[in-house]
Amino acid sequence: MDRLKVYIIGATGLVGQRYVQLLAKHPWFEIVGLAASERSAGKTLPQVGWALEEPPPPHLAEMKIEKIDVEKVPRVDFVFSALPSEVAAKVEPELAARGYTVLSNASNMRMDPDVPLIVPEINPEDLKLVERQRTERGWRGAVVKKPNCTTTILNLPLKPILDEWGIERIHVATMQALSGAGFAGVPSVAIMDNLIPYIRGEEEKVVAETRKILKTDFEIYATTTRVSVIDGHTEVVYVDTRRDFDVGAVADALTRFRGLPQELKLPTAPERPVEVRSQIDRPQPRLDRWAGRGMAVVVGRIRKLASRKLAFVALGHNTVRGAAGNSILTAELMTAT
Ligand code: NAP
Repeated sequence: MDRLKVYIIGATGLVGQRYVQLLAKHPWFEIVGLAASERSAGKTLPQVGWALEEPPPPHLAEMKIEKIDVEKVPRVDFVFSALPSEVAAKVEPELAARGYTVLSNASNMRMDPDVPLIVPEINPEDLKLVERQRTERGWRGAVVKKPNCTTTILNLPLKPILDEWGIERIHVATMQALSGAGFAGVPSVAIMDNLIPYIRGEEEKVVAETRKILKTDFEIYATTTRVSVIDGHTEVVYVDTRRDFDVGAVADALTRFRGLPQELKLPTAPERPVEVRSQIDRPQPRLDRWAGRGMAVVVGRIRKLASRKLAFVALGHNTVRGAAGNSILTAELMTAT
């Protein structure tokens, strides 16, 4: 089968580069173009500053980056967008109006009622909102969003707990990686030997997006912090369940959790979306962020603090499951269904 054509906008940033890395050898998708701002136009990825573990393959390392121009985007099956939200707010609707299907990482439009906000294992049925979006906005294409990285990593283990025991409220405190702030990110002198106990807008996103994805109104209290880790968000989660549980059954439900991507054996789907570690000092970002090729959330320290009071620590790769990988899995789902 011919591979489907995809185009990456915001290709030079940390999420954009992750798209390039994950799509370079994708069995269904082929990158036919890369675009970013005027600053990068005419250059190649190595020239603008490649930041990931392994270099891009030669054909992508040599590809010239274009300046984003909605009139010049080639006809492709999917546009993957890793633009800042203020730029995305202008570019993505214009592309959708012109017939492109845009899979976006940016936070604008995520809470619009006709915009799918997808974690493929949790709410694949929300992709049907695309039809409503097309009707209401008169678009031939569509904008499909992936949630905030912290939200995705939190929601994967919450889903089987919600289904099995019900949830009354959660408290979550996060320790988020530097790559979550993008290439320019947090100044090194501000973060080395330090922790910053505030990330603008993040707590609000975790609350609102979790309610939209899980279709629930349980209480959510979040504190989000930035730490000196390159990749991998760690989250300490306290859950008040509706029904009592035992720790073994929770570990079992998390390990057994599967979704449509696993059923359909999609190329980017991890075998287990949630992996449980029994070692007392796991998960750790350096040791666990590549679980399931970066697509699994790793959970450890599952404890029962009192009746109906559960605690655990979750960790996920913020630019893979939290960003590019989740969008690629969504595109696979849209292709397969
Ligand atoms: P980043 O490293 O700062 O990259 C931003 C990208 O957008 C670059 O390719 C940049 O191109 C391009 N860009 C900026 N201004 C532009 C303009 N005026 N016109 C055209 N292109 C422009 O950011 P990131 O971390 O990759 O994040 C990308 C998006 O994903 C953001 O919306 C972010 O909130 C979201 N997100 C990030 C993460 C994460 O873990 N990093 C997770 C989830 C969601 P130049 O290089 O040419 O400037």
